[in-house]
Amino acid sequence: MKTRAAILHQTGADLIVDEVEIPGLGYGQALVRILTTRICGSQIGEIDAVKGPDRYLPHLIGHEATVEILELGPGIKHLKTGDRAVAHWRPGEGVDAGGTRYRWKGADCNAGPITTFQEIAVISGNRLTPIPRDTDPELGALMADTLTTGFGVIHHEARVKIGESVVIIGCGGIGSGVVLGAVLAGAHPVVAVDLHDNKLALAKKMGATETFSAKDPAWAEKVRAFLGHPADVVMDGTGQPAVLEQAYELCGPKGRCIGIGVMRHDRKLSINTLPLHLGRVLTGSEGGSSQPHREISKYLRILADRKISTKEWVTHRCTLAEINQGIRWMRSGEPIHVMVRPA
Ligand SMILES: [Zn+2]
Repeated sequence: MKTRAAILHQTGADLIVDEVEIPGLGYGQALVRILTTRICGSQIGEIDAVKGPDRYLPHLIGHEATVEILELGPGIKHLKTGDRAVAHWRPGEGVDAGGTRYRWKGADCNAGPITTFQEIAVISGNRLTPIPRDTDPELGALMADTLTTGFGVIHHEARVKIGESVVIIGCGGIGSGVVLGAVLAGAHPVVAVDLHDNKLALAKKMGATETFSAKDPAWAEKVRAFLGHPADVVMDGTGQPAVLEQAYELCGPKGRCIGIGVMRHDRKLSINTLPLHLGRVLTGSEGGSSQPHREISKYLRILADRKISTKEWVTHRCTLAEINQGIRWMRSGEPIHVMVRPA
């Protein structure tokens, strides 16, 4: 059986959309149809090999989607054929079946436990969490990372308390989930910083107390003046060293500075570490330490009961055949979210 998939064959190059041969299902693996998938900043990082040379080329890519279960391998108990599910990269319930191998042009084509830039995929059972059939597939794809990671950074990692000040730098992608998480957690004030006015407008709509354009070179000074005191929590979604340094400087003596965007492997920070000895914390988020199987149903309920719509979060849409256009949109920084429909 074959499927169309976007293949990363060379670092920095456009993906190739082509047919690959799907392997048979192993223990703990599921065969799924991708309904919609989001392009995450992580995939741009993967294409550019920001974590270091890519040893797995050629390989498939993508890690956030809403899917329909077509077939289950042995050992999966929490899913049924025909179920809708969120496909997420953080491990959830069930067996960790590891990666898989497709065939492309007569040779192996690697894939991790989850890949989603394709029509049909083999995914490890523990990367799939069932959701109600009537869930909007785009909302499901946002649950895969944006909302679980965004809320997780606030809840599990920053452990934000009511009335703490939170500054979020970079409010598209995962940042949009962080802003909503901060508002829901009762942070105050919630300050959003971004280069793009559409992301600041969305942050404001979600309940951010104040927004600042990062086009203004004095944005950090203005945030400091607005708060009137150093921040309790500052998040950096950009992964840019200069921005993370400013985030660190905005933190108070016991403040928590959390990097969400991954920095290139060959870049370094320049900071004075004395504040770390006195109680300031600088750390990086690992997917918000989220637990998809425990959290997705709860978060869907919160959004539904509070009538919080994420419709406007998706600003760009394309098909699998147009995925390189979607990636160019992501590189422009303009989209809040880009969704890809395989067909
Ligand atoms: Zn992601």
